[in-house]
Amino acid sequence: MSDNQIIEVRDADGLEVKYGLPPEVRFCRSCVISNQRPSSVVEFRNRPGDRKPTIEFDEEGVCSACRYARIKETIDWAERERELIELCDRHRSRDGSYDCIVPGSGGKDSAFTAHILKYKYGMNPLTVTWSPHVYTEIGWQNFRAWIDSGLDNYLYTPNGRLHRLLTRLAFENLVHPFQPFIIGQKLVGPRMSVLYDIPLVFYGENQAEYGNNIEDNDRPTMDMSFFYNSRVDIRDLHLGGVPATELIERHGVDRRDLNPYLPLDGERLEQTGTQVHYLGYYLRWDPQECFYYAAEHTGFRTNPERTEGSYSKYSSIDDRIDPLHYYTTFIKFGIGRATYDAAQEIRNGKITREEGVALVKRFDAEFPKKYFREILDYMGITEERFWEVIDSARSPHLWKKENGEWKLRHAVWHEAHNP
Ligand SMILES: [Zn+2]
Repeated sequence: MSDNQIIEVRDADGLEVKYGLPPEVRFCRSCVISNQRPSSVVEFRNRPGDRKPTIEFDEEGVCSACRYARIKETIDWAERERELIELCDRHRSRDGSYDCIVPGSGGKDSAFTAHILKYKYGMNPLTVTWSPHVYTEIGWQNFRAWIDSGLDNYLYTPNGRLHRLLTRLAFENLVHPFQPFIIGQKLVGPRMSVLYDIPLVFYGENQAEYGNNIEDNDRPTMDMSFFYNSRVDIRDLHLGGVPATELIERHGVDRRDLNPYLPLDGERLEQTGTQVHYLGYYLRWDPQECFYYAAEHTGFRTNPERTEGSYSKYSSIDDRIDPLHYYTTFIKFGIGRATYDAAQEIRNGKITREEGVALVKRFDAEFPKKYFREILDYMGITEERFWEVIDSARSPHLWKKENGEWKLRHAVWHEAHNP
């Protein structure tokens, strides 16, 4: 089978299933997430039509993120904190130099991580930020307040012309306008680690919280093979769903400008001894508690208005493209922003499943109109083209058109009475 061949999958009713998603839609019995949620982000080689691994469900119909939430209750957190203190003791600088890197935006999670490492555990973190596409006002205020709470920061802003191009291509080819941002943001910590010779990098929450590999929970560090891969050759590397060679030859991209998006040099990472740790392995992670901490200590403020597509006011609020990102997940997987927010809050005991279902029903499908024009301008596409991309991204096993209106075939509120 050739690399480019895409196998067509159909569900029990003979409807086409895109993206290699599970043909039968199921919802977690504990939260509101469905089995259509991609589980890990294999970003470097994403091509249009690639199969996406999805979240696992156990025999009881419970998702792996909910299972992890239960496991979290049995972890000896005092012991984990001792491990954190030992790790900090091994790395803490004695001469005033930076001893760890905290990548982040100054949102509640990175604000919590950097501040607690500095002011409770006595570390001297350098915070590094991969700039949002277009800051929101509240995002910029929170970013400034984070620095003003007593932290040094490098703001890394990628080449605007290239980042716009990659964002447009990622939207048109993968319906994933966030892909270039995610790649850059993930790489910026280890990249700065090498650049400034600071081996210890702290991210906040473990991705297993959201249903990636559950085995990752037993490990405090991120698998470094994500950051470099000796087998990834520029010739088979894709960005925005386009081979890098095509970006250079057809889109006039300068090879040098691609560097911030390319895997790191494994040898240099090894020389530096770069290790990427999750603070969420050591401290009991709860997004709402991070919010309370950040509000008290780093001047973090919530959005004055409810976030479009959800009911929350405190997560992912710094980039004007965020709402569109969640809208694309709603189109591709039937999972919008309210679903992500409600699933997380159910797991952390903040709301009941019943409340979550009602919130999903009310907000998940909301179209993000506030920054819509601005984001179209940013990507340089017309509204007509936008809808063409969106409508062709709807998998027939998830969507149907009734009286000219798109409707989801399966929704968590349909299943709620019959769990
Ligand atoms: Zn669940």
